[in-house]
Order: sequence, then structure tokens, then C-alpha cells
Amino acid sequence: MSIPVLKFGGTSVGSPERMEEVARLIDDGQTKIVVLSAVSGTTNKLLDLGETIRVQQIESASIKLNALREEYRAFVETLLAGSHLIEQGYSICKSIFDEMERLLWVNSFAAGHEKWILAQGELISTKLFQLYLETLSMRSVLLPALNFMRIDEHDEPDLEWIGERLQQELAPYNKQHGVYFITQGYICRNAQGEVDNLKRGGSDYSATLIGAALKSSEIQIWTDIDGIHNNDPRVVQNTRPIRQVSYREAAELAYFGAKILHPTCVIPAEERQVPIRLKNTFKPKEHGTLISEESSGLAVTAIAAKDGITAIRIQSGRMLHAYGFLRRVFEVFERHRTPIDMITTSEVSVSLTIDQSSQLKQIVAELEKFSEVNVDRDQSIICIVGDLLAEHTEVTRHIFEALENVPLRMVSYGGSQNNISLLVARDQRDTALRSLHQHLFTKPTAGDALLMA
Ligand code: ASP
Ligand code: MG
Repeated sequence: MSIPVLKFGGTSVGSPERMEEVARLIDDGQTKIVVLSAVSGTTNKLLDLGETIRVQQIESASIKLNALREEYRAFVETLLAGSHLIEQGYSICKSIFDEMERLLWVNSFAAGHEKWILAQGELISTKLFQLYLETLSMRSVLLPALNFMRIDEHDEPDLEWIGERLQQELAPYNKQHGVYFITQGYICRNAQGEVDNLKRGGSDYSATLIGAALKSSEIQIWTDIDGIHNNDPRVVQNTRPIRQVSYREAAELAYFGAKILHPTCVIPAEERQVPIRLKNTFKPKEHGTLISEESSGLAVTAIAAKDGITAIRIQSGRMLHAYGFLRRVFEVFERHRTPIDMITTSEVSVSLTIDQSSQLKQIVAELEKFSEVNVDRDQSIICIVGDLLAEHTEVTRHIFEALENVPLRMVSYGGSQNNISLLVARDQRDTALRSLHQHLFTKPTAGDALLMA
């Protein structure tokens, strides 16, 4: 079945007016699966509510819950104004919030209850949206994500299972045309069958899992910006959306801070070769960014930065001509379940970076048993992504020219065909991004045609 999947994030459904716009955008008479996030801000409020109940601040939790009731009452009032379905809208919210209220009084409030609360954001947004489509007489069906979205005991989605269950859910409508299937992003069941989620920002992942499981024609991720930009628009002027990138390039960019896409969500789409298109709800006619097999064809596609990085230098005479040293180093990180992002080595030392520093003290203490350790906090990784960087020798020249005055803490080149990563102090990040942008995108010289779009 080749049904396209369209995902709309929290801002796209963040107000009744935005929801109306989404209804207009999907209304072309073609069957599609529409994946929605919670209304923007709701997941944070639910997270806060869950924590407040967990620490037994019942009065405060009750105030927070009532604020949510009011917020959704006003939402329904505007979205369904004048419609005969308005009472149904109120009652959807009432039953969800009443259920939450019961949780204020349970004796053993547990992690499972918190996850259940978190799941209600997507459940409300999809139910209200589907009701709204009914008021417009748009043929729509709610597909409960909890019936088909599942993660296994390692928190990995079970694509085969998801595909089978989805087919079962869709089967009754096989012969019908122009059906809008509405489903929740983010939420799922875990291996024990409990309500769980795909982690914050996981609605993109839901959409790509559904698209991959059904081998859809296309997965569209609708947000409030026009695709992946070739540099950070908050820092650099004159950035442009990239028209087309490969799955590999997109994965690198998503990981390194191009906040538009959840990094893991490229994997299922690539596995099943389903293209992902990033679109802007505010400018629906714009091309956006297409992520597929086809790379950008540019030597340098984009530049992105990731902050909050800690660099660790590990030095030891024992590393000289020795084997097994790196294994010992890596084992320390493994024991503390801390992923390593960048690595550079010399004969007697190795530098690496982490972005989760909760275990840093313990890690350093263990490393110090066999080496000298230096830690630099507050670093930023700058990642330059492109196609076959090594063949374009002029690119490295431009990079180093651009960073003439920026101290480089680490340089990682050759790890993949698509990425050059540099580590700089956080306070050098903006200078580096701007200068790289100028040298790589706006200053072509003879022979550099490939650097430009
Ligand atoms: N609502 C969830 C969140 O805010 C999932 C998502 O929007 O993608 O993280
Ligand atoms: Mg998001």
C-alpha cells in the first residue's frame, strides 16, 4: 500500500487556527495518514504535572490540571464554534482530564502512570482534530497508535509488527478513496504492553516508522521552517533551504543540531527507501527539502553546530606502540553508558567528546587510574556536511582559511565521506559558523563551482 504519511508538529496544531490550516493542507481528496504531535507546550505541561504528582504536591498538581482543563475548553470552544459536535469535544477533554484527576489520589503513583499522562497530549490533539474534520464533512478515521506502534525490550521499534498491525487497521477501508487517517505521533506500547513513548520529539520518528512499515510513497514532515537550511539561521544571515540531500547527509545534520528533524527518524526511511520531504506549514507552496537516495550533488551541503559538548584528553606513555589502550578507554565509557561522538588520536594521546556529562566525574576517576586526563567543558562541534568531501580538495582549504583566527580543539576528517567535524570553544561558535558560511557559500572562486547551488 503506498499511502503517503504527513506529520504535523506541535506548532502546526498549536492553536485552533493552525489546526484549521492543517485541515486545508491535507484536503485534496487523496487517502493519507496524518500523524499529529500534541498541541505545542502540552507535553511540557504534562511532564511537569506528572512530576508534581510523583513528588506528592497534590494541591499544586490540581491547580496545574485545572489550568489544562481551561486551556482545552477554550481550544474546543474556538475550534468547534457553532458546530453540533462541540459537546463531544468538551466530553473528550473531560474524560481525559477526569482520568488524570484520579491519578492524583492513587497510592502507588509509578513511572507507568507518568507515561500514561504524557501520552494524553497526542490523544487529545488527534481526537479534537478528527472531530473538526467531521464538522467539515471530511472523511476521516482515527487510527489508535497504541494498537500498532510498539517498541521491544531494547526500546527499538518492531517494524515488522508495526507493518502487520497497521495493515490490519487499514484493511476495512481498503476499497475506499479519499480517507484521512489520523493518528498519534510519539506514543507507543513497550514490550510489556504498557503505554510508552518514542522519547521527546518522537513524532517525526512515528511518521517515518509508519511510512517505512507501509512502504509509503512519501513521508512529509510539516514544521514551521522551510526545510533544512545550509547553516543555522539564528546565527548566520542569508542561509538557504537545501532542496535535496541524501539520507546519510540528513542523518548527520539532524544529529548535529539542525533541529528540524529527530536524528533517528532517517533510519527506517532509508532502510525501506521511502523519501522524506520537509515542508513549511506557513509556506506550503515552497519546495522544502527532499531527503532520499539522491545527494545534494554539492561538495558542501550544509554547516551545523551542536553545543554542550565536553572534550576529554587522555594521555599516557603506555599508549606508545601499545595495543589494547583504546579498548580500555572505550570500556570506561561503555561501563558508564556514555556515547562518544568525536575522536582524534595522536601516538600518545586521544581526545574524544561526549554530550552527556552526567557520568563525567566517575569516568574521569576511572581514566585517571591509567592516564593523565584533561577536561574542557562548554565546547561546540561544528559539522560540515557534503557529498564526497575528500574529492573536493578545495573544500579543506576554504575551511582552514575561514577558521584562520579560530582556535581548533579537535578536527575529525575521513570518518565518513559526508562529514568534517571541528571542535571549538562555545564562545567561538558563531564566529566560526559565519566565517565558514562566507567562505564556503558566498565567495566562489574559479574552480569552485561545486560549492555553490
Ligand atoms: N509531543 C512530543 C514532544 O513534545 C512529541 C513530539 O512533538 O514530537 O516531545
Ligand atoms: Mg518536533
